[in-house]
Amino acid sequence: MKKIQVKDKSFAISIPEAEILKQVQRVAAEINRDFAGREPLFLPVLNGSFIFAADLLREITLSCEVSFIKLASYSGVRSTGEIREVIGLASDITGRDVIIVEDIIDSGLTMAHMIETLERHNPASISVCSLLVKPDALKVQIPIHYRAMDIPNDFIVGYGLDYDGFGRNTRDIFTLV
Ligand code: 5GP
Ligand code: MG
Repeated sequence: MKKIQVKDKSFAISIPEAEILKQVQRVAAEINRDFAGREPLFLPVLNGSFIFAADLLREITLSCEVSFIKLASYSGVRSTGEIREVIGLASDITGRDVIIVEDIIDSGLTMAHMIETLERHNPASISVCSLLVKPDALKVQIPIHYRAMDIPNDFIVGYGLDYDGFGRNTRDIFTLV
């Protein structure tokens, strides 16, 4: 069993590269089919989705655009708690078919916030594409149109996902042991 150490924690391989790539290709084929004749705008969410986005986009045969976005967290006033602002929305998304590309959906709160923010710009449609989903952790109902894999409610790293900033640069996905 392949194991890695990321800072103070040990992780064991849970999804090998070949399986990830197979599922990424399947999702890309679904998007190619569903968006045939349209020109979607992919919005990968940094940092976690950078490797997924690179592999996914190279399987997309549509005429399309790609623009990276990021959620900036900062503390707001106490009464409202944490405010997360969507930054980097460089392209005008009004009237566009946008596809949000995420690394992982856990509680779903991040994605719910993202959808709400993008809706204010009046895109033609919003689709959600996530590499991973933790179905048992979902706290809010959100549409997940495309998902490569469902995983149990464990902490994972690799293939773009980090533990405390480290561990993103692996080909396989690893689970905390
Ligand atoms: P949510 O708002 O859905 O609870 O959280 C989504 C975000 O939490 C993801 O974009 C990711 O940054 C982080 N996250 C959730 N679960 C994991 C995990 O197992 N591993 C890593 N590295 N990040 C996670
Ligand atoms: Mg993320």
